[in-house]
Amino acid sequence: MISEKMIKMTEGGSAIRAMFEEGARMAEKFGRENVYDFSLGNPNIPAPEKVMTEIIRVTMETDPMELHGYMSNSGYPEVRAKVAASLNKRFGTAFSENNIIMTVGAAGGLNVLLKTLLNPGDEVLVFAPYFLEYGNYVSNFDGVLKAIPANIEGNFQPDARALRAAITPKTKALIINNPNNPTGVIYTEETIKAIAAVLEEKQTELGTSIYLISDEPYRELAYDGREVPWLTKYYRNTLVGYSWSKSLSLPGERIGYVVIPSECDDAQLIFDAAVIANRILGFVNAPSLQQRVVAECLEESTDVAAYDKNRRALYDGLTEAGFECVYPDGAFYMWVKTPGDDKEFSNNAKKYNILVVPGTSFACPGYVRIAYCVSYDMIIRSIPAFKKLAAEYGLSK
Ligand code: PLP
Repeated sequence: MISEKMIKMTEGGSAIRAMFEEGARMAEKFGRENVYDFSLGNPNIPAPEKVMTEIIRVTMETDPMELHGYMSNSGYPEVRAKVAASLNKRFGTAFSENNIIMTVGAAGGLNVLLKTLLNPGDEVLVFAPYFLEYGNYVSNFDGVLKAIPANIEGNFQPDARALRAAITPKTKALIINNPNNPTGVIYTEETIKAIAAVLEEKQTELGTSIYLISDEPYRELAYDGREVPWLTKYYRNTLVGYSWSKSLSLPGERIGYVVIPSECDDAQLIFDAAVIANRILGFVNAPSLQQRVVAECLEESTDVAAYDKNRRALYDGLTEAGFECVYPDGAFYMWVKTPGDDKEFSNNAKKYNILVVPGTSFACPGYVRIAYCVSYDMIIRSIPAFKKLAAEYGLSK
């Protein structure tokens, strides 16, 4: 018999992945242009040209024994130094290579941090709605994930008072994701200050260290000039997980990093343990070619204006159809209130060849997530289908 934990995970499956497979089946049946698949957060904008030229240049110009060989489990020191310098320039911080570990994407980085921090039974808090994989990452290390209910009245900004009530002596970490998947909301500086104040207060009261893990794959996807607060400035025990999956459209390349600031409690111990975690989780180190490529692409960005154009077209189309949407400030997701049960709604949507993910998949029923990292044309073509769906629910204006 296999692991009981894995049996549970197999049974649970991933609603998002299942939806993706259904999209492929529908495309075969109805033709790709007639299926409106908004299920997956897979960027539709190609990586910047510089990424391609660097992949070729680095491959051709680097000694292959060096390029394809093992390196320190934390990554190439010169790459980590460049990442640190780039963060310092952007956020006025003082990191060095000794604060950076290159990782296998954000998922790899989060698993490394959780393996480093958690003892069995330790609690990890998240604000609903949240990226459901966090539950699996936490249970990988026998931690207990505790979700703080969504602050619907507060437009999905986390509620610091609810955070205070959820912290116990067993609380080891709080994971936040900003800009947020699935809501598209950017947590404001005011929200972050309130969270930091509660964490400080509780650390003092309980005599524990509570780490704030900031999961930031969408950091650069912010619209209308909105700022995404850099959390190490607000709270000493912050650990950051980053990836280029969304910001440079490289999700399959599996490249990211974690930041472990020197002022964190047990910073050196965390760093040393995280390097070992990177190795023994089986990552060993982040991909060598991609480390060298991203180090040359730190000034590059994706076409945020294209996502912005999608965001506006989808928001206008859906609100005109009668849907109530959270206006997204960041990431590439629209969070839409469902008339009635969200699972039933997303099943009904399939009648119109629309694929969206029920909010239940993010621990927040009553909503669906629409990933608009798709072609602009598809958004425009999908609006009449959304209007028919709205009409079925009597929403049309
Ligand atoms: N965190 C969030 C909130 C995400 O949405 C995703 C991917 O969709 C990840 C982490 C994982 O990102 P990566 O591909 O860098 O592992």
